[in-house]
Amino acid sequence: MAECIQIDCKDDVVVTQDLRVKCEGPEDGRHPAVYLTMLDDMNGKPQQVVCPYCSRVFKYQGQGNSC
Ligand SMILES: [Zn+2]
Repeated sequence: MAECIQIDCKDDVVVTQDLRVKCEGPEDGRHPAVYLTMLDDMNGKPQQVVCPYCSRVFKYQGQGNSC
């Protein structure tokens, strides 16, 4: 399974090209591994999802964009 996750300019934002992301959070033992699915914006395009455990933001980025 190929993962394509890279860190954005901001610390708490993860930019990914995957519609489903896995978050395990910081290693404090209180964060179960969860799979998060991107939420659509008003135009029906996948936008981003926020982890309910660590509030980390996963931002969907299609191909061709750069930071
Ligand atoms: Zn998390």
